Amino acid sequence: MKVDNDLRESIRECAYQHGFDLCHFSLPKIASQDRKALDNWVDLNMHADMAWMAEKSRLERRKDPDSMMDDVQTVISLAMRHAPSPYSLEQANSSSTKGNIASYAHGVDYHDVMKKHLKALARDWDVLLGEHEQRVYVDTAPVLEHALAASAGLGWQGKHTLTIHRQQGSWMMLGELFTSVKIPVDSPASEHCGSCTACIDICPTRAIVAPYVVDANLCISYLTIEYKGFIPYKLRSLMGNRIYGCDDCQAICPWNNKAETPDTDLLTPRGENILPELAMLLHLDEQGFRERFRKSPVKRTGRAAFLRNVCIAMGNSGNMEFVPLLLKALHDVEPLIRGHAIWALATLHTLQNIDGFIEELIELKKKEENNDVLKEIEAILSLK
Ligand code: SF4
Ligand code: SF4
Repeated sequence: MKVDNDLRESIRECAYQHGFDLCHFSLPKIASQDRKALDNWVDLNMHADMAWMAEKSRLERRKDPDSMMDDVQTVISLAMRHAPSPYSLEQANSSSTKGNIASYAHGVDYHDVMKKHLKALARDWDVLLGEHEQRVYVDTAPVLEHALAASAGLGWQGKHTLTIHRQQGSWMMLGELFTSVKIPVDSPASEHCGSCTACIDICPTRAIVAPYVVDANLCISYLTIEYKGFIPYKLRSLMGNRIYGCDDCQAICPWNNKAETPDTDLLTPRGENILPELAMLLHLDEQGFRERFRKSPVKRTGRAAFLRNVCIAMGNSGNMEFVPLLLKALHDVEPLIRGHAIWALATLHTLQNIDGFIEELIELKKKEENNDVLKEIEAILSLK
């Protein structure tokens, strides 16, 4: 089927009616510089523990959107914006009783919201375009979404690697619809970072190792959401009170200061996860965690890794009121939580007398069977 420019605009209008803020069209091709950049990133192990990123067949598919379905003619990149709640970088670093959750996760899980709207949109396009093949993706398949969005003119990839639109900024989530219908494509986006380096300079862990290159091994978003192991020592104190994701590189971006506030916010309408109390979170058992985050993307991280992050934030808070709770966490069933509670207590106790805590650690060492937790105990004892 051939689509003219008028019909293309009807398709776009239909996307707006379904709650999407941006809708752009590209060929199912990844530019050669983006393919090369992906290969280099994986070769340098910047994908960290995300083995699926480096897995050969998935890597090849990521570089070749054509392979995602038979006869794909057009990729439609769609963005749904969310309104960030007031956020200050001081708040993310300062002593506090609260944890910082990335803005996009303040409400319901964007995967669920976007998928629901994409599927409804696909049904309407079925009517508009007649019989054709289409598939929808929201962060669930090997799709190089930011590169596709840039070639569709939806926005350019900033030096922090996220997509920025000139009027609408970068607080948005992306989804894609692949179709067998040939739709006239949009012009690629031009780049507008210029000489700005604000995101590189502000990054707490120096994870933006070069313009347009983020080393996941250092990125707080990766560490707090995807990574399920013991957080490297040198990064813990740099995490501040960020317990799920990190907004710093977007919060500092001048294009977000200029962006208009979205008329509707389907992703974070309730904002129930804005600065939750850390103490309340460390109380959550497995069932409590599942109930508390049932509709939130936070559930994907799991209790053990999430409470690991909470322990680190407590350690960084300088707030001695957390000590009783952390002492209780030393006996949690999850080694990840026990290990990071040890670090948090040691960090807090450097502010005050540590002797009582050392005695507690010596007792713990006699009973502990997990090697990683034992390493955490040894690391503190060796400082004595
Ligand atoms: S999300 Fe945070 S840690 Fe990651 S690159 Fe941006 S500022 Fe750095
Ligand atoms: S902060 Fe500056 S360099 Fe970074 S993405 Fe925004 S405009 Fe580009």
